[in-house]
Amino acid sequence: MTGLRVAVVCGTVLVAAGCPSRSATALSHRDLHRHAIVVDTHSDCTQRITYDGVDFAKPQADMQLDLPKMRAGGLDAQFFSIFVGPWRTKPEGYYVEALRQFDAVHAMIRANSGTIAWARTAADVRANAKRGRISALFGVEGAHALLPGDEAEMLEQGARYLTLTWSVASPIGGSSGDDSDGRGLTDVGRRIIDEMERLGMMVDVSHVSDPLFWDAIRYARKPVIASHSSARELANVPRNMTDAMLKAVARNGGAVCVNFGSSFLDRDFAAGEQAAWARARTLGLPPQELWRTVRDEVSRLPPVPLSRLVELGRRRPEKPADPHPPEPRARRGRTTKDRQEQARRPHP
Ligand SMILES: [Zn+2]
Repeated sequence: MTGLRVAVVCGTVLVAAGCPSRSATALSHRDLHRHAIVVDTHSDCTQRITYDGVDFAKPQADMQLDLPKMRAGGLDAQFFSIFVGPWRTKPEGYYVEALRQFDAVHAMIRANSGTIAWARTAADVRANAKRGRISALFGVEGAHALLPGDEAEMLEQGARYLTLTWSVASPIGGSSGDDSDGRGLTDVGRRIIDEMERLGMMVDVSHVSDPLFWDAIRYARKPVIASHSSARELANVPRNMTDAMLKAVARNGGAVCVNFGSSFLDRDFAAGEQAAWARARTLGLPPQELWRTVRDEVSRLPPVPLSRLVELGRRRPEKPADPHPPEPRARRGRTTKDRQEQARRPHP
């Protein structure tokens, strides 16, 4: 997510919401957008609300998302990302910090109840949209913030997905963002996925290592999401997904929610951004200043048009090698009883 904080993160899903009798093809893209329930599955505004005391009800010049922009853009539901930066907090404080972020967003929701309302289910989102409220949902980014056994409390707070890793490995498995990128799903990870599925929390495969992706999607019984990843066919970077991965998510019945961040659409931009981070890290700056320094440098990179997303179908750039070719849908052969038994076992 380091790079994602510079360029906006958007995993956007459109959900049909009772369009009028005209057929979808007769609708303009603007009509379709307005009639659909538009869901963004990942926003990093949580940390600005929590740590900078940003008033989300007012237009914020240096943010790409706030309540007025959501209204203007026809955004109906937003997943707020609960993310504890390992550079900001010591491991023993991760969980408490995550709860602090939930509290800050819940307070923002309460303070703006005429505009935004907490949603825990798809039915809540539809009901909120009907009464003209934006829905706020939560996803936890990175299981490093989670202690085994904490899933139920996270769910209670509102978490509806857990990104199995952030850019660092978690007890669940390896990340695409560090030296653990060859590591797959651990025994602890299997138990956490069991518990998440029992509770009704989605498995999010954005940020995971390739082996963890394949292990998780073979293990999961329920649909998974990638809350903010794009395609390696478009930009061959580890945070994006190969065609085989995209097809595997489709077979699983899940969803890949497109990331509009420039470094997800263009490999050169991603390389420029990485170089900016590497340079800035040598300066020994405090976190906020480090982030601003990178943001300023990245803002001078050649812009990447969003139209790159639709150009993908027209051009066939580099073909990334996929070390994990697709397999027939593989499911665990366990019985319901096995699963119940495993779910009862305490996490190690
Ligand atoms: Zn992220």
